This record gives sequence, C-alpha cells and structure tokens, in this order.
Amino acid sequence: MSGATFAEAVLATRNRGKIRELESLLAESLGPVRVLSAADAGLPDVVEDGVTFEANALLKARSAAAHSGLPAFADDSGLAVDVMHGAPGIFSARWSGVHGDDDANNALLLAQLGDVKDEHRGAAFVCAAAFVTPDGTEVVREGRFTGTLLREPRGNQGFGYDPLFVPDGSSLTAAEMGAARKNAVSHRVLAFRALLGAIT
Ligand code: IMP
Repeated sequence: MSGATFAEAVLATRNRGKIRELESLLAESLGPVRVLSAADAGLPDVVEDGVTFEANALLKARSAAAHSGLPAFADDSGLAVDVMHGAPGIFSARWSGVHGDDDANNALLLAQLGDVKDEHRGAAFVCAAAFVTPDGTEVVREGRFTGTLLREPRGNQGFGYDPLFVPDGSSLTAAEMGAARKNAVSHRVLAFRALLGAIT
C-alpha cells in the first residue's frame, strides 16, 4: 500500500512519549496528523499471544482499528541476543518472571551470559511497527538497533536493558547517551520510518 492520507489515527499505547514521537514522524512524511492514544480512543486491552514481534504488533493494530474506526498503528519490541538465538525476544519484559522488573531481568541475563566472551556478546533491540486500516489493509515493518552487551549495568537514563547495551559505533550505553540521541537511531524510529515509507 502507498499513498495513504489521513488527518487522524490511533496508536495502541498509553505512553505519551510514543504518541509525540509518532506525530513528529508523521509530520515529516504526511503533514499534521492527530494521533490518539489507547486511552483517548477507549481501546480495550489486547491479549498479546502472538509468538513474534510482528504478530503482536499486528494483533494490537487490528484491535485498535476495529474499535476506533481509524487507521491504527502499534508496535512491539524487545531485546534479541545473538548467542541466545533471539531470546529474550517477545519475553523481554518478563524474562525473570516478573513483568517489568528491569533490575531482575538484567541480573538474570548477565548471569546467563557470564561465560560468554566479549566477541560473542552481540545483540539487537528489535521493533515491529504495524499499520492496519478499518477496511483491512495491513502493513508491518521491522527496525533493528544493533550493539553489544556489557558485563555490568552502566547509566541510569534509560529503561529495560538500556544499561547493558552499547550501540554499535558508541562508547556509551543506551542508558548513558540520553533519550534524544538514542531515539534518533532506535529500533522503534527505524521501524516506524520504514513503515511510513511504505504507506505514504
Ligand atoms: P515494549 O514492546 O516497547 O513494551 O518493550 C518490551 C520490553 O522490551 C521492555 O519492557 C524492555 O524490557 C525491552 N525493550 C524494548 N525496547 C527497549 C529499549 O529501547 N531499551 C531497553 N529495553 C527495551
């Protein structure tokens, strides 16, 4: 699909930062678009039972389009570690067993990678961004932010696995580089840029 035009859309998230980020990306390619959040549009929660980032992003976007009657965006992301064949992957937020416990997730990952040499500690943050319209158009694109995992956390400006992750070409971790620098090159921005390139 290309040539989409719309003045209003919904993004299946409650995170205001993600709403503002999508509005500014849309402004670059399509002009001003008002993006409603899941709360603005009264969206129900979705059971994320897909087994890939792509499947979960599509589940959320399909539900948002069906409930709002608007073109809908959604994303799903996580950390994929090379030597772990893509794990924690879709289980990133609850790798240690407790959803959203970043410190426990980082501690478990570091323990699992304890014997892995520096040259084998490659990883990527991966994001799938999906676009679904009420008439059934579906487009999904992936973005990858590649780097290396440290042996102990560094920095406190990020979230999730940011303190362990040194992006390729950087000497700082994603938790030391600040949101503005990270978001300019992040997996989510890469995925949404590719998605908007495909639909506009
Ligand atoms: P979500 O799909 O954006 O909610 O991300 C799911 C989980 O993946 C988060 O809870 C984090 O553990 C991890 N994750 C995703 N993106 C990032 C990132 O940019 N930095 C650190 N962790 C991330």
